[in-house]
Parts: sequence; structure tokens; C-alpha cells
Amino acid sequence: MPSIFSKIIAREIPADIVYEDDDCLAFRDIAPKAPAHILVIPKREIVSLADLTDEDEAVMGRCVVVASKIAAQEGLADGYRLVVNCGDDGGQEVPHIHFHLLGGRKMTWPPG
Ligand code: IMP
Repeated sequence: MPSIFSKIIAREIPADIVYEDDDCLAFRDIAPKAPAHILVIPKREIVSLADLTDEDEAVMGRCVVVASKIAAQEGLADGYRLVVNCGDDGGQEVPHIHFHLLGGRKMTWPPG
């Protein structure tokens, strides 16, 4: 199911893209919740964690590696958080799976 993130992948709407390869795209969140807030997504249209299959293993692993590289590029040497919201209770709003890379401030635990 196409979402707003599919339109970003297709360059139909603008985004502040910080990384792209054949499988993944990363861009700055439009409403940042931390000084650094970047979304890392697979280009493949996967709705949520609940929809993952074995075929998604490589691309999801790639997204995590990409997030790690971006964190280093962003200078998040003191740490950061990588979050995936899943479904209504998880607080997911956009139905295209995405990692939130959050950093640049001290995070609190537990999340709300
Ligand atoms: P979710 O609540 O985990 O689904 O997170 C969706 C995230 O996408 C939120 O942090 C939004 O601010 C962000 N977002 C929604 N639309 C756009 C956009 O067009 N560009 C960049 N980020 C977006």
C-alpha cells in the first residue's frame, strides 16, 4: 500500500535526504523529536514489523547498518536511539516501516 514515504522514494514530494542506496532511503523527519531525527526506510513497501517475512531479513538488516553509519556521520558519538513503532498501540502513524534514528540529547526511559 503506497504511503507518503513511497512518494518520497519516488521524489513526488520533497524530503531532506541524507542517504540512499538500492534498498534503503534515509531522510530528516519533518517534525523532529530530537536535534537529530532521521528516518531510515526500506524502499520495499512493508507496512510494519508485524508484516515482516524471512525475505525482508536482508533489507531490514541493511537499514540498521545504514542507521549506524548515519549516526556516525551525524556525530552522535555519545549515543542515540533507534526506534520502530508498530501498529496503533506502538504509535505508528505512517504505514511504511521505518526506523527513527534519534540523537543529540539525553533520552529518557521508558518511552511514553
Ligand atoms: P510513526 O509515528 O512511527 O509512524 O512516525 C512517522 C514519522 O514520520 C513522524 O515522526 C513524522 O513526523 C514523520 N513524517 C511524516 N510525514 C513526513 C514527511 O513528509 N517527511 C518527513 N517526515 C515525515
